[in-house]
Amino acid sequence: TDRMVSADWSLEDASMDSIRPRFLDDYIGQESVKQNLKVFIQAAKERQEALDHVLLYGPPGLGKTSLSMIIANELGVQLRQTSGPAIERPGDLAALVTNLQAGDVLFIDEIHRLPKPVEEVLYSAMEDFAIDIIIGKGPHAQTVRLDVPPFTLVGATTRAGLLSAPLRDRFGVIAHLDYYKPEELAKIVRRTADILRMPIDQDAAVEIARRSRGTPRVANRLLKRVRDFVQIGQESLIRMETTQFALSKLHVDELGLDELDYKVLKAIIQKFAGGPVGLDTLAAAVGEESGTIEDVYEPYLIQMGFIQRTPRGRIATERAYRHLGLPVSGRLLE
Ligand code: ADP
Repeated sequence: TDRMVSADWSLEDASMDSIRPRFLDDYIGQESVKQNLKVFIQAAKERQEALDHVLLYGPPGLGKTSLSMIIANELGVQLRQTSGPAIERPGDLAALVTNLQAGDVLFIDEIHRLPKPVEEVLYSAMEDFAIDIIIGKGPHAQTVRLDVPPFTLVGATTRAGLLSAPLRDRFGVIAHLDYYKPEELAKIVRRTADILRMPIDQDAAVEIARRSRGTPRVANRLLKRVRDFVQIGQESLIRMETTQFALSKLHVDELGLDELDYKVLKAIIQKFAGGPVGLDTLAAAVGEESGTIEDVYEPYLIQMGFIQRTPRGRIATERAYRHLGLPVSGRLLE
């Protein structure tokens, strides 16, 4: 999607590499995750062992990839990055893990999308630091055991429940990343503005933070677009007024909802009488994939109290009606 408040990675984010936090101390928020990791990393270093495998889960754009880089930096080891769908066959995984150095971090994004045969090979790599691969076919097939250097797997996924139990059980550290508080996002905005050498007023930083759906990737993207308006307006400071003007031009409302969020809410209210409506039906009505609705849109709308999940489907809350300026009457509130 090309929505302004999309938490999905886009090409433009590639140029944002310099704003990625490198060490735990630059990583703002997620305090308890950070404090625990600090302990585990230091203990592993003292024992001169590989850090136990780490599973990070939470909505897109909250800093899972950044955290994997930080873990490698803090450990002083190399990082190899890949993703679940990119590892197609067991042989791909074998090549990847046998080329690691002792202690290295292997980051697998979207780890819930690993093909099943690959996942099964990963189990022994994680647990025994060895893999069995089959060479040849038919009666001459042979199993060969390959050693794997002790390494740390950092897996990322949007929901821990997407992982099979045997895979989940092999992670020694399971950390949940949650939406950021506005004051944490404001700090992230200020930090990024600093790196981009663009002075920003505190109230402008807070305004961008408020409209960033609790998500650092969205905050950084909105900041960059606001900066464009500031630059074209020949100003040298990001002020509140320009920020509000820019964000309204970007169709990001005061709570961070964009046109697609409105589409979802309006569909529930106007096409399905406020719900309950099933996820697939809703997804079809707004022309999105149900996985995207479930992982990207819905968690924030639930968090904001606009949608409720019931056993029979999604319903729009009274708050959603009010936010859209629609009459609540005529609907039975549960
Ligand atoms: P994910 O892997 O969860 O989708 P990323 O690690 O790619 O998220 O983070 C998205 C962007 O947000 C990064 O470019 C990074 O600069 C920024 N970011 C994420 N978390 C933080 C944080 N805690 N502090 C500062 N910046 C952050």
